[in-house]
Amino acid sequence: MLTRNFTYDKIKKREIKGNARKGRGVKMLVSAKDMLTKARAGKYAVGQFNINNLEWTKAILLTAEEMKSPVILGVSEGAGKYMCGFKTVSAMVRAMIEELGITVPVALHLDHGSYEGAKKCIEAGFSSIMFDGSHYPIEENIAKTKELVATAEEKGLSLEAEVGAIGGEEDGVIGSGEVADPNECKMIADLGVTMLAAGIGNIHGKYPANWKGLNFEVLAKINELTGDMPLVLHGGTGIPADMIKKAISLGVSKINVNTECQLAFAEATRKYIEEGKDLQGKGFDPRKLLAPGFEAIKATVKEKMELFGSVGKA
Ligand SMILES: [Zn+2]
Repeated sequence: MLTRNFTYDKIKKREIKGNARKGRGVKMLVSAKDMLTKARAGKYAVGQFNINNLEWTKAILLTAEEMKSPVILGVSEGAGKYMCGFKTVSAMVRAMIEELGITVPVALHLDHGSYEGAKKCIEAGFSSIMFDGSHYPIEENIAKTKELVATAEEKGLSLEAEVGAIGGEEDGVIGSGEVADPNECKMIADLGVTMLAAGIGNIHGKYPANWKGLNFEVLAKINELTGDMPLVLHGGTGIPADMIKKAISLGVSKINVNTECQLAFAEATRKYIEEGKDLQGKGFDPRKLLAPGFEAIKATVKEKMELFGSVGKA
């Protein structure tokens, strides 16, 4: 039995290495540029799913592979700190892609990065960066974005910029959700960023009952002014499906999902505990305890990929 497993592992590893040599099969991290250009042209969106630990990462990568969908793994500065730093995250994701034999395009992306955080992630080997300069005056946002555009170009990374702060909670800061000025969006887009996040009434976290919905007038204007720039919709949790589809038709090519995976994971884990399953047999084993939450993340990611239209686009 041991011999058989050993041989199987050896063969699988050889296959993976062979595929990598021939330039097919297992991929290393890629910039988000190609996948988003294709998404924009094909009228679908690629999901950015934020990761928090090993289970999260594994669940998202496996689902992307099963769905044959490109995927962007988002890492906030807080989550990066939690996972022991961006270097740890980069090493884990790269190793996991190889060991799991992931063949779909994967971008490792800093979510809402500060200027300093962006530099750290570039050093740690991330393939995509978001510089969130939305809280700076527009002149300073432009100056800092410009500098990072040059660095990203030189290193072959994709760069996301933000105009108009997105509401809700961003690592402890609660905003009310600005609507971006389309002319400012054009100014930032013209700097040569890869993709642009613009506030259009979207917020992070759960949407309140009295939420007014997305501002499609502003989105249409931004789309018109920024040409074929892939637009990014943050706060994808709980936006109704018809609004998501309309946003995609107006140039949204990347949609960020974070809270929804957290809610699904928490609900499945709570159910396991409440049913007393951790008290039965070896139900306390973390590999068993975390399994329902892991499956719940997979189901959520699958559902989102189907809604965004990225299934089969890898
Ligand atoms: Zn966001």
